[in-house]
Amino acid sequence: MRITRDPSETVVARIVTLVDEASATKAETQMLVEKIKRRYSVAVVAATLALLTFPLLFGADLQSTLLRAMTFMIVASPCAMILATMPPLLSAIANAGRHGVLVKSAVGMENLAEITVVALDKTGTLTTGRLELTGVVPLGISRISPDEILKLAAAAEAGSEHPLGSAIVTAARDRGLDIAVAEDFRALPGRGVHAKVGDQLIAVTSPNTAPGKQVAAVSDIEARGGTAVIVIADQEPLGVLELHDRIRPEAPSAVQEFTALTDAAPILITGDNRAAATVLGERLGITDVRAELLPDQKAAAVTQLQAIGQRVLVVGDGVNDAPAMAAANASVAMGSSGADLSLETADAVSVRDDLAAISNVIALARRARRVVIANLIIAASFITALVVWDLVGYLPLPLGVAGHEGSTILVAVNGLRLLSESAWRRAAPRRQRSQLKR
Ligand code: ADP
Ligand code: MG
Repeated sequence: MRITRDPSETVVARIVTLVDEASATKAETQMLVEKIKRRYSVAVVAATLALLTFPLLFGADLQSTLLRAMTFMIVASPCAMILATMPPLLSAIANAGRHGVLVKSAVGMENLAEITVVALDKTGTLTTGRLELTGVVPLGISRISPDEILKLAAAAEAGSEHPLGSAIVTAARDRGLDIAVAEDFRALPGRGVHAKVGDQLIAVTSPNTAPGKQVAAVSDIEARGGTAVIVIADQEPLGVLELHDRIRPEAPSAVQEFTALTDAAPILITGDNRAAATVLGERLGITDVRAELLPDQKAAAVTQLQAIGQRVLVVGDGVNDAPAMAAANASVAMGSSGADLSLETADAVSVRDDLAAISNVIALARRARRVVIANLIIAASFITALVVWDLVGYLPLPLGVAGHEGSTILVAVNGLRLLSESAWRRAAPRRQRSQLKR
């Protein structure tokens, strides 16, 4: 038995930490409210003292003056303002968590509410990432056998966390090939991997960055909508591997929902070849397809959208998506197939790799934002009305207390509504309808 990781790095342990971190963060609205609250509280105390001393100086009687000042202090206190923001956001976080999407912070939830366009990664995000090796084409004069090529490729990929890597290793195992132990493994995100196998330096890479780009086998594979990777030994191309991926079953409806939510079709940002990306885009109704992007080019695509005023949500799974996620306004990682780095970088993690749930979370986040605004208005109206009533007319103390506590409970309960199952379901009215039809 070999232990490869510290127990604190298990998925469950990481989720626990993420949840802890989420509850320790504060929403931006909350921070603003708290900043205002500090000054506001001082002002309320000062105003209370003034309400007490000035009437007394002008000969008012002690009992009614004291009562009015006390009532003022109670009704002007910002309790309802403080409970206006966090309950809705935390309820939305809890609700999303119950449905398999862990939003890591209240700020993340607020960011999700603001996005105007969705950028989707291809391999592992729109597709299952469980690729199938369908062919091995030997190249060059050495003419080594397909199985030999696959053996070398699998040895080099053994350390890879990329879906292509696992597909190649699985294919080699399925064919009963024994996979040598490689040394000096290195992954180049968005390009491929290389490692020393025996005394050869084996590279398994994208044709975009390899010398074999012009090979006919590659363009045939790409025309079929597949992904071609080139196996190179000591600079010499040995062969081309053909891999095919499947679209996630919920991807078409998820794309439709993103389109409905943002009034614009999502954008595809992928490191894979243009032909395969275009085929996939056509099947999903995505026209803005940006292919053959290296990780920093994915991030640049995001920045470019932001420059024209868009607020971008990046959904991805790989190490290669992490820079784009970091640059984006909000990001979601695929939890079960995603690489560690993408899970750490993203604002939210879809634990079950469920694309459809992401649009629900966006809708829920927007709803939470509306509730926060409504709550702030309710709280401010109550405070203003009760303060004016106390200053201008006569507000009995019990009524003041009832109004104050009542409004505090009202905003808190209003926020907790987002915990309900119907808040989640109402977030996706269209899908619900199609499910009813089925
Ligand atoms: P995507 O953006 O679709 O998730 P990546 O950016 O991860 O794709 O990869 C882009 C391309 O780089 C792949 O299509 C493949 O050609 C190559 N590549 C990346 N990682 C590997 C790997 N481990 N083995 C072989 N090729 C790889
Ligand atoms: Mg990917």
